[in-house]
Amino acid sequence: MQDYIIRAVAKDEPVRITAVTTTGVVEEAHKRHKTSPVAAAALGRTLTAALMLATEIKGKDILTIRIMGDGPLGAIVASADGKGTVRGYVQNPEFDLPPNERGKLPVGAAVGKGTLHVSKDLGLKYPFSGSCELVSGEISEDITYYLYKSEQIPSAVSLGVLVGRDRHIRSAGGVMVQILGDVDEVTEKRLVKQFENLEAVSSLVDRGYRPEDLIKEMDFDFEILADYPVAFQCRCNKERVEKALISLGVREVEDILAKEGQAEASCHFCGEKYIFDQGELERLLEEMKNT
Ligand code: ZN
Repeated sequence: MQDYIIRAVAKDEPVRITAVTTTGVVEEAHKRHKTSPVAAAALGRTLTAALMLATEIKGKDILTIRIMGDGPLGAIVASADGKGTVRGYVQNPEFDLPPNERGKLPVGAAVGKGTLHVSKDLGLKYPFSGSCELVSGEISEDITYYLYKSEQIPSAVSLGVLVGRDRHIRSAGGVMVQILGDVDEVTEKRLVKQFENLEAVSSLVDRGYRPEDLIKEMDFDFEILADYPVAFQCRCNKERVEKALISLGVREVEDILAKEGQAEASCHFCGEKYIFDQGELERLLEEMKNT
């Protein structure tokens, strides 16, 4: 089933809800980066969060989440635009930890302590950026804390990835509820209670819930503002790698040609491998010398 995202606001209250299914997104990341179950959960939650935080950015603008934990997974990076594409990686995708006694993947232990950074490149001279300490390394709580601390938006965030026995992704998704203005105490209590009673998103998606079904779990009258498909998609291409090669300079490229006979580069974000064979490198050198 195609993954998609919905952003909606309550008709009578300043409450916004965002819900997304990301099973295909996280499976694509798993295939590209050969993630262990715990790495898939950590990266998948981060990719899902990036898509939810990016619903309001426009055009070519990019939102990037960087989770810099001191745990064995290393850094986790996810970068999304407002059109539903996201890409990302985890530094040590092969690292694994068995589920704990409650059957949960120990994401917090694998991520460790550290910092969460969010940057929004809105095409301005200086990108917006904010950061906070990691609260638990479980990602949902860290994003919730970030939104409150850095953007002053009281939010509740639930992110989930369910990994099957065969290591493939069974289900993944997220729900985010945000208070955008003054709400009375009764409404706030009602929101908190409903959110606390919400079943794990990954279980709901595993049972076939779509984003509109996830929204209905919250008992408010919502009006849908945006609804679009989401996918793991990178922005790399051979041309960009070629530009990077050119920037190394003639001497360096000659050196690679002499020593390796070809140049190989792979993209951090998606794992795509780009090879420039002898003929291509010779042609490139010719161009570089003539410009
Ligand atoms: Zn790429």
